[in-house]
Amino acid sequence: MHNLPQTVIQESRVEQQTIDTFAREANRIVGSDQVSANPADLLANSRDYWPVNNIWMIEGRVPALPQLVVWPGNTEEISALLKLATKLKVPVTPYGEGSGTLGGAIPIKGGVSLDLKRMNHLLEIDEESLMVRVESGLNGALYEELLNHAGYTGGHFPQSLRCSSIGGWLACRAAGQFSTRYGKIEDIAVSLEAVLPDGTIFSGRSVPRTATGPRLDHLLIGSEGIFGVITSATLRIWPLPEKRHLISYTFADLKGALECIRLIMRTGARPAVVRLYDAQETGNHFPELGDQRCALILLIEGTAKIIAAEAEVIDDLAIASGAVDCGPEHVEHWLEKRFNISVASMLFQKGAVLDTIEVSTNWHNAHSTYLAMQKSLLAVEGTMLASGHYSHVYPDGAGLYMTVVGFPGSDKLAFYKRIWQAAMEACLAQGAAISHHHGIGLHRGQWMHEEHGSGLSVLKKIKKALDPENIMNPGKLGLEEGKLWQK
Ligand SMILES: Cc1cc2nc3c(=O)[nH]c(=O)nc-3n(C[C@H](O)[C@H](O)[C@H](O)COP(=O)(O)OP(=O)(O)OC[C@H]3O[C@@H](n4cnc5c(N)ncnc54)[C@H](O)[C@@H]3O)c2cc1C
Repeated sequence: MHNLPQTVIQESRVEQQTIDTFAREANRIVGSDQVSANPADLLANSRDYWPVNNIWMIEGRVPALPQLVVWPGNTEEISALLKLATKLKVPVTPYGEGSGTLGGAIPIKGGVSLDLKRMNHLLEIDEESLMVRVESGLNGALYEELLNHAGYTGGHFPQSLRCSSIGGWLACRAAGQFSTRYGKIEDIAVSLEAVLPDGTIFSGRSVPRTATGPRLDHLLIGSEGIFGVITSATLRIWPLPEKRHLISYTFADLKGALECIRLIMRTGARPAVVRLYDAQETGNHFPELGDQRCALILLIEGTAKIIAAEAEVIDDLAIASGAVDCGPEHVEHWLEKRFNISVASMLFQKGAVLDTIEVSTNWHNAHSTYLAMQKSLLAVEGTMLASGHYSHVYPDGAGLYMTVVGFPGSDKLAFYKRIWQAAMEACLAQGAAISHHHGIGLHRGQWMHEEHGSGLSVLKKIKKALDPENIMNPGKLGLEEGKLWQK
């Protein structure tokens, strides 16, 4: 291990003898070229996009290392690997593309990082029923490209599209930028195939809905790898839209703009993109609009006649709310820049700490949660900026996405913990849910009890029943008291 950097939150590791036994058997199951203890491979799968990784990486440390990386090629191989892991009590952490922002893919108890990248095939398109069957390791941008070639869209565009996988989307209950029209991943998913820790392979029926008891396959949506491995999914698709219509407005204040969006959602209009920025983010993203008003950008797409009606309904409500029409060019600018994720790592290199914290609100607390979270974040010593936007809207509320940047000096980790504590306390006090789409992973687990109350013990019982040896991504989703991380 002398070639590898020091780990910070490695809670435990599996005895080397057991790992050697696992590796021998895994070689037989997947082929020896698909099993690696090479330091470069262990390092690659030691981290995700959780910002704390950046703090440690700049210091030359990593959060935790797997002892093996295994790349299975199909569902049967995963079944054999999980059976083996249960028998030998070896932790298994599924790894999609490592774009999770809360440490979910970090193997804090060592063992095996099960990397899904080889399972990257689009299996079949059902053009009649508008569904596609796809393996879980397929990259998001490649998936959309393959669909576009066939004349369809998957309707799911997280900002991390180019660095995330289908399995990661499902495991984290992801939401894309076009979610108001196409739905979030749980709306897009028809059925899943998954493997449980005892090796059982199961799948749901790919029909529009069922009333045959609870949808067991959907239990895996949002499970973040703690119940098993999602191996493939049937997802809804849409014909490529006939037309796209772009509109932007500015409003005098956030509250008035939110009220306008609430009214739009009551009409039945479903623009694909609805993004409302506070004045600060308006100034940052659209400097030409200044930093005194709040920008709302909208993208409507689909059939031309329906779009025309939606645009008219939206425009009537916006103008009646005192909005100023700013034309399509700001939406075009957003479309060009929407997958650019380079700013965060540049800021870390300059000594900043940055994170984004997304929460879920109803209309009655959409604005007050923003105000409360902003106030709490700005009260933390070292915070330079706490701004927000709303990027997923519903008839019953909106997702609020706060960005916080600070220059805390030497103790970056203490600052990081303080901003999260401040944000989560403010969010919970307003009655909002602690995550809209990034999930829980390792870091947000400490607030799971406040979020779920007695529901957390139900989750623990399900986990115990499905995974009695606790091999699947142990230590995540707040099911175990955090040890090294929360100290
Ligand atoms: C810049 C940036 C922008 C982002 N924008 C968005 C956004 O707009 N919307 C959004 O929802 N999220 C966003 N995210 C968060 C992240 O991209 C998503 O959570 C994504 O769904 C994770 O996919 P992944 O393949 O990278 O998963 P990973 O990070 O590899 O894994 C995430 C978790 O899922 C588990 N997992 C992965 N694959 C499987 C599988 N096949 N079976 C079981 N468990 C599995 C892992 O064990 C881990 O716990 C963003 C992240 C970044 C860095």
